[in-house]
Amino acid sequence: MEVQIFVNNPWEENTVVLYDDTREAAVVDCGCFTEKEREMLVSFLEKRGLVPKVLLNTHLHPDHIFGNEFMKDTYHLETQASREDDFLIEHAVSFAAMLGISGIAQPPAVGTYLQDGDVVVFGNTSLEVIAIPGHSPGGLCFYNRKDKILVTGDVLFAGSVGRSDFPGGDGEKLLSGIRERLFVLEDDVKVIPGHGPMTTIGGEKRHNPFFR
Ligand SMILES: [Zn+2]
Repeated sequence: MEVQIFVNNPWEENTVVLYDDTREAAVVDCGCFTEKEREMLVSFLEKRGLVPKVLLNTHLHPDHIFGNEFMKDTYHLETQASREDDFLIEHAVSFAAMLGISGIAQPPAVGTYLQDGDVVVFGNTSLEVIAIPGHSPGGLCFYNRKDKILVTGDVLFAGSVGRSDFPGGDGEKLLSGIRERLFVLEDDVKVIPGHGPMTTIGGEKRHNPFFR
């Protein structure tokens, strides 16, 4: 499985494209906000002849879903996300305004609900769904066991964890979820967070100050 990351929107959110040699792709957390950001994504997909087959969301905070309307219009994809985060879509417009961005369109509804233990498939690639609530109630991580790549959204960052002071947040659940569900993976598993640089499970186990 190959990985391409685009840093999008004012919150520098990581939009992640996963693809394999079948040329099928998954787009995780499409945060494209400007015309230029949308064009960069399309141009990357077209240049490599990639066909996006699934649109996934680690969670439904505004900065992770800005591009969902565009993905629906362009590729006829509806996002797959946790039902527990549905309320965030309902409040996306006011939530974005609270965070300093007004006038966004109401994002499209979730098309398919995912839960812990589900497996998402595109091309020859499987992604295991690991639910970790705490940053948002419906936080999901996507794990490709074959290539040891884990997309964590805002659950786990390099040297930090997601904030838990948003509606439905729970700091204790977040830390215990990371400890019990992610830190049991092998040390060389690569972590792609929702913001900031990539890291590894081993690196976070050793150096993340939230787990000292
Ligand atoms: Zn978030």
